Amino acid sequence: MPVAETPLDILVIATHPDDAEIGVGGTIIRAVAGGKRVGILDLTNGEPTPHGTPERRAQETAAASKALGLTWRKNLGLPNRSVRDTLEARRQLAGVLRTTRPQIVFSPYWDDSHPDHVAASRLCEDARFWAKLSRSDLPGEPYWPPKMFYYWSIHLRIHPKPAFVVDISDALDQKMEAIRAYASQFLEGRPQVFPSALDDIRDRARYWGWTIGTAYAEPFGSREEIGLKSLDPLFP
Ligand SMILES: [Zn+2]
Repeated sequence: MPVAETPLDILVIATHPDDAEIGVGGTIIRAVAGGKRVGILDLTNGEPTPHGTPERRAQETAAASKALGLTWRKNLGLPNRSVRDTLEARRQLAGVLRTTRPQIVFSPYWDDSHPDHVAASRLCEDARFWAKLSRSDLPGEPYWPPKMFYYWSIHLRIHPKPAFVVDISDALDQKMEAIRAYASQFLEGRPQVFPSALDDIRDRARYWGWTIGTAYAEPFGSREEIGLKSLDPLFP
């Protein structure tokens, strides 16, 4: 894979197609509206699921990408349900980081009941480290993504304290449209009585919006402190 002529501003790494939409969808839409180049790397195709097929999931992913306004999206082809932080997977992911060269990487949160999500989170951190190695046979040039944050698209019903929360009030409808593109996951075979899976996603966004005094929002974690160049972002 050649080095992108224009690097991505933001890369979201998703264990399964639909994880990025659930955890970062509104923030992606806001960033795209602000002129940022945003990409998603899905690690697996997410199949099998009760109502999906690989072909159908790929079509749904394409529709969701359009709703988000993505610049770039690829699938790393790791085995669903069996994601591991192997040296080969680390090599592949480090290669993507070196060729897309994002300023900000959003990774799956490190604590979850889904083993794929936990392994993917570890894989992201290890690939970030490997991406900067010199004198390696990795594609592209050595690169250290300056910022890595974590999103919550998890099965464990926990709510760790976020490092920051992004207002997505203007993007909520578009986010839900992107998620509804995955009909095999959210519409078919799911009871559409309140609270549905879609209700849960929207209402969690409402809850995080309440925490910052807006309609809807998405929370993010960080292992490192976040520095500001000025107080401007803190003014209401
Ligand atoms: Zn997932």
